[in-house]
Amino acid sequence: MTGTRLEIDLNALRHNYAYMRSKIARGVKMMGVVKAFGYGSEAVAVALELETLGIDYFAVAYAPEGVVLRDAGVQTPILVLHPQPDNFEAIVSHHLEPSLYSHRVLSIFSEFIKEKKLSNYPVHLKFNTGLNRLGFLASDIEVVLDRFRESALLKVQSIFSHLVASEDLTEKDFTRQQISDFKLLSKQFISGLGYVPFLHETNTSGVINYPEAHFDCVRVGIGLYGYGNTPEETNNLQPVARLKSVISQLHHLESGESVGYNRAFVAEGNIVTATLPIGHADGISRALGNSVGCVTISGKTAPIIGNVCMDMLMVDVTGIECQEGSEVEFFGTSSNAETFAQKTNSISYEVLTSIGQRIRRYVIEL
Ligand SMILES: *Cc1c(COP(=O)(O)O)cnc(C)c1O
Repeated sequence: MTGTRLEIDLNALRHNYAYMRSKIARGVKMMGVVKAFGYGSEAVAVALELETLGIDYFAVAYAPEGVVLRDAGVQTPILVLHPQPDNFEAIVSHHLEPSLYSHRVLSIFSEFIKEKKLSNYPVHLKFNTGLNRLGFLASDIEVVLDRFRESALLKVQSIFSHLVASEDLTEKDFTRQQISDFKLLSKQFISGLGYVPFLHETNTSGVINYPEAHFDCVRVGIGLYGYGNTPEETNNLQPVARLKSVISQLHHLESGESVGYNRAFVAEGNIVTATLPIGHADGISRALGNSVGCVTISGKTAPIIGNVCMDMLMVDVTGIECQEGSEVEFFGTSSNAETFAQKTNSISYEVLTSIGQRIRRYVIEL
């Protein structure tokens, strides 16, 4: 093992899958969210493993992410959450299922299917119940229904919405309103449609906090990767990604010597520093410099000193048993991506998805 690497632990993934399954009733589908390279991990390895475990559906944000999965042999249905008309060709040729969220996208996609002389193409209808990001409003239902009554070009596979604050229990009233609005609008839509698509509204935190919102399917992202949005739930899960590096070089400095660009760190005594082959180009934010962030070496904490460089950063290893070549951990076992994120007012989602593509992924099967 050499250099900086992201270990992807499929055993942790299996554990998290089983844990999230244990939270939902038998018969409720699970959609594995594998957008953004599988939350920065390795989308193909994660998706193939989840497929083996029996996941019912996948979701990606953009069509090219679904194309990668199909090219790797993934057979399970894939919902594209935010398709763009430019991607419709790729969507249809790779049997991806678009979320239709606006009159414009619905109309362009219908035309596209017509031109291709296809029919009953599976699509998913997104309703906006308060996030105000994507989706039709309840007041659009009749106009949307007309489109589906007009022709059999499209088949509504599911109707869905997205919770605004499922992890925030101070927003319970708002969330409950979203759940009841979704119930109402889906009922109205189904009665006009004449057949019954499956319904889904929750992400990971909704699975945990709102059993009444599981409907027919839940969309699980962060939970599968080992984070539950509370310390208690995160404890029940296991981090899939472990970010590790290695000491490239040690430096013995005397008091008054500085480290890194612009001399941002100046030694106050004799110290030992280690240079690591990972920088802000790899997703280690510059905001973690100057002792905000730290790493673990031989079980001890070493602060990041000075400014984080593009390709490297330096840590203070004074008093820590280590050598050039020693292993360093950013997060994964000794700390997790959530605590790492808190140092810069970030969240696990951002830390995980920021890990650059320059860092090699090592998939660990056992
Ligand atoms: C990303 C995403 C999810 C997954 O959310 P987690 O909190 O990671 O479980 C679910 N639904 C939609 C619409 C998303 O964009």
